[in-house]
Amino acid sequence: MRAIVRSTAEDRPGVYRMLSDDGEIVYVGKAKRLRTRLLSYFRASFPEDKGARVVREATRIEWDYTPSEFAALLEELRLIKQFRPRLNVAMKRDVRHFAFIKLTRGAAPKLLVVRGAGAEDAQVYYGPFHGAQRVGEAVRELNDALGLRDCRLEQPMHFSDQRELFQNFPRTPGCIRYEIGKCLGPCVGGCTTTEYRQRVQLVRAFLDGSSDGPIESLRADMVRASEAMEFERAGMLRDKLQRLEDLREQFMRFRFVVESLSFVYPVPGHGGDDRVYLIRRGRVRGEMHQPRTDEERDRLVEMLTDVFEPVERETAQVPAHEIDELMLLSSWFRRFPEELDRSQSAAAFVA
Ligand code: SF4
Repeated sequence: MRAIVRSTAEDRPGVYRMLSDDGEIVYVGKAKRLRTRLLSYFRASFPEDKGARVVREATRIEWDYTPSEFAALLEELRLIKQFRPRLNVAMKRDVRHFAFIKLTRGAAPKLLVVRGAGAEDAQVYYGPFHGAQRVGEAVRELNDALGLRDCRLEQPMHFSDQRELFQNFPRTPGCIRYEIGKCLGPCVGGCTTTEYRQRVQLVRAFLDGSSDGPIESLRADMVRASEAMEFERAGMLRDKLQRLEDLREQFMRFRFVVESLSFVYPVPGHGGDDRVYLIRRGRVRGEMHQPRTDEERDRLVEMLTDVFEPVERETAQVPAHEIDELMLLSSWFRRFPEELDRSQSAAAFVA
């Protein structure tokens, strides 16, 4: 492998795949200087080094050149998602630093705090957030404030408008949360399907940043408790309020980061292969060569109009399949803030 790299690899941006004997892609990587990067694998000092391990498991290297390091980064992500190479743990670890709030589907959705997003799902995610434990506490407050369930996913649900179910299934006792008014009790006919759905809408509105309902209701409870001189209860409510406010603040910061990652990003490429990336809300929504003719310029303007067309309201939701790219782009512009100097708003770029 080393001889092949030495004789044929060029020092320019690209992505590479390490393959095992039976053709399995065991590792995917990217490099700004491909040849230098690949040769470094054969200089690993210790057998436990990542490079030594990759070379031990691989018998073949394949690579493709890309116009730039940024293009290599995007291609690496695409390949990792497609092939899920078993030695690519670094990226997963990055994502696992963050917590996400997931709203499950089904008759009675519930909130879960998860690390990273499952590739399987078409579920709704909010995040990323730092501090899984604090996010977990805030989610508990949200559940309590809005009466959402927090039991196991498989818990059978019996809404009060499911009469036919009650004829066949005896009403089972709920849990303590229903008894103390912290859950609407969709498992024991404590609410209708619509009532539960309305609460889920409120949670979504809060997580989208369009409603402060849960915070306002906790604040009103706190004021009432304080006026009634129930100071212990007022103190407890103040702590709950604080946790929800922390969560909301994190949302606002996150929304700001996501919104600020919306621009046209021209990237000079190797050998003049310059590209233009249309980035909206932290994801690449379009890419083309730097236009050189009127026709190409018209095509770019068309793409810009499509990608940056105003939407009625932006949401804080992140589809599961976009989370990795969002994390990748925010980390790229955090590592290389000078790259932002080249970015332009869609309007400025067209002008
Ligand atoms: S009352 Fe029923 S639905 Fe609510 S958390 Fe308890 S078991 Fe789940």
